Amino acid sequence: MDAPYFKAISEAAAELNGEAYAIGGFVRDLILNRPVKDIDFVMVGNGPELARLSAQKLGVQQVTIFKNFGTAMYRFKNTELEFVGARKESYLRGSRKPVVESGTLQNDQDRRDFTINTMAISLNAPNYGELADPFNGLADLKEKIIRTPLDPDITYSDDPLRMMRAIRFATQLGFFIEEKSYHAISRNKNRIKIVSGERIMEEIQKMVLSETPSVGFKLLFNTGLLAIIFPELCKLHGVELRNGKGHKDNFYHTLQVLDNICQNTDNLWLRWAAILHDIAKPRTKRFHPVNGWTFHGHEDMGARMVPGIFRDLKLPQDGKMKYVQKLVRLHLRPIALTKEEVTDSACRRLLFEAGEEIDDLLILCRADITSKNEAKVKRYLERFDRVEEKLKQVEEKDQLRNWQPPISGEDIMKAFDIKPSRAVGTLKDAIKDAILDGKIPNRKKAAYAFMIAHGREMGLTPVS
Ligand code: ATP
Ligand code: MG
Repeated sequence: MDAPYFKAISEAAAELNGEAYAIGGFVRDLILNRPVKDIDFVMVGNGPELARLSAQKLGVQQVTIFKNFGTAMYRFKNTELEFVGARKESYLRGSRKPVVESGTLQNDQDRRDFTINTMAISLNAPNYGELADPFNGLADLKEKIIRTPLDPDITYSDDPLRMMRAIRFATQLGFFIEEKSYHAISRNKNRIKIVSGERIMEEIQKMVLSETPSVGFKLLFNTGLLAIIFPELCKLHGVELRNGKGHKDNFYHTLQVLDNICQNTDNLWLRWAAILHDIAKPRTKRFHPVNGWTFHGHEDMGARMVPGIFRDLKLPQDGKMKYVQKLVRLHLRPIALTKEEVTDSACRRLLFEAGEEIDDLLILCRADITSKNEAKVKRYLERFDRVEEKLKQVEEKDQLRNWQPPISGEDIMKAFDIKPSRAVGTLKDAIKDAILDGKIPNRKKAAYAFMIAHGREMGLTPVS
């Protein structure tokens, strides 16, 4: 609280005959000792005026004013400061955009989502630094409780995004949603339909980036929200029995894989690969009287489902999607290697196909080893260590991670004096297979000789 802007804002508020407070998430995070990203200031009076005058005192040139919202912001060093006039809000049923009029500090606190987010710190001379906490947010912060300041049914129905925020905070902070709130979320779940997919996804991403995202997904599932916002994940839930034989519950398995992977990576998209790795299991599930339950091809079908799921969830359709798709497609491959004598050739193929993603793929596969039986997990992980070691050796020897074919299509056309055609592709694949299978070394000279010989077999005549 000794940053220069607090003082500047305090002086500016006094000159404008208003009252200024730091409020909301900033106060919560300050008390929780979490890093400060941005700070919201509320002014009983004119927010943008407070922004302008305090910026002037700090020598900040650029102040952005959003006339339509009555808000303003500027940056001081690396902190974003936001200013808004204290407001009173009322909601119309079809929208999460309230009707706004100016109000008191208490009015402004009333409209906030959770008691832990209502606290304000005075920046006014008579009680500078004092906490204004009409809903006892401090106690809830200590008890780790998420509670709405007003009747939760009204709070959630007014702005259903708050249901997502409640679950996100519970996940991110390790807090508990108070009982009345929890039931209100279940009751109001259908209201989530008026919230845009993009806003819903912002909250989900914050959950996914937390330490234990399973907490959030279980809350979404149990309150009924998940079935509305991410039905495909819901379908993984449950165990079917035939002839008394069940399979694992793929919903809880997926969440375990997700929590596991979070211990080894902060990469958001690798975490998404964990969420989606088994997504096609419901669609590929079969029961065979002898072999029991199978999910043949779920990795390929899962990869094919990724673009549609990304579209529905308002996730990007770019390289990140392709990356997740690739990991889903390959997620069984390293595990398959643990089941057999690992040949160099199998390693080369995997290294070639995974390319740059091989390390991430291995992280995903490790996370995917789950069982209630700890000894079993340990045994599998040890086998996996050996596969990883072998992959490392082969990679060091053959360097297939960034493999470029030693013979290009151009080379082939020149050697046989032919035009672009199917034969060129066939020959190129044959060379690649020969290298990956270890029939020839990954060298230009050997590949050239192989090309000539194989081309002849195909009925092509080399230029002499
Ligand atoms: P974070 O910044 O970690 O995402 P936050 O609580 O600070 O969490 P912001 O979006 O920065 O979230 O909002 C700042 C403050 O504005 C909140 O602490 C809360 O008081 C209020 N607020 C934000 N969104 C809502 C909402 N949908 N309904 C009511 N109050 C809200
Ligand atoms: Mg914030």
